[in-house]
Amino acid sequence: MDLETTAERIEEQIKEYAKYFLKTEYGDQALKRLEIFDIKAVDAYDTGGVSEVTDNDIKIAARRDIDAGKLTNTTKLIIRHELGHILDENSPAFPEFEEQIEHEKIAWVNAKPKTPAEHWYKNVSIRTHIDPLKMQSMGFPRPETKISPELLKQGINIELKRMKRHSLLTDKILAKRFAMANLVEDPNYYNPNRYS
Ligand SMILES: [Zn+2]
Repeated sequence: MDLETTAERIEEQIKEYAKYFLKTEYGDQALKRLEIFDIKAVDAYDTGGVSEVTDNDIKIAARRDIDAGKLTNTTKLIIRHELGHILDENSPAFPEFEEQIEHEKIAWVNAKPKTPAEHWYKNVSIRTHIDPLKMQSMGFPRPETKISPELLKQGINIELKRMKRHSLLTDKILAKRFAMANLVEDPNYYNPNRYS
C-alpha cells in the first residue's frame, strides 16, 4: 500500500472517530458543529503544535498513525482535545495569554480523558506543547527565573542528546521546555547521582 493511500485512509478514520466521539459523548447537536469544519490529516508529529482548530479546519498531526498504519490511541486523544475546543462555545478568537490557558484546560476537560495512559499523555502535553499551563499551575509565571542557568543549560544538552538518539531532527525549544518542566519539579532531575 503506498503512502498516499495510507494517509487518506487515516484521514477517513480521523473523521469517523471525531463523529463517533461527538455523537456518543455529546449527542446530535454537538455532531452538527462538525459540519462547518474540514478535517485534515497532516503528515507531521504533533510536538510542534501542529494539531489545531482554525475557523474552518481541524488539522491533526498524523505521522505516527501513517507509520503505524492505523489510528493510534494518542491521536484519538488529540482529536478529542481539538474537538474540545470546538465544544468550548466561549473560546475567544484572539485570547490573551491567561485566557488561552483557561481555554486549553477547558478543551482537556471536554476531551474526557479516561484511562491512566490518557491522563499521562494530557500531562505530558501540558508540559511540552502547552507548557505554560503546567508552569503557571505550579505558580511560576516565568519558570526560567526559578532555575539556575547552569542547571538549565545542562538539562537542555541532555534533552538534545536524548532526542538525537531517536531522530536526526532535534528541537532546541522543545528540549528547553522538557528541561524546564523537569527541573521545576525536581532540581536534581539531571543529577547523575540522583538514584544512588
Ligand atoms: Zn488546545
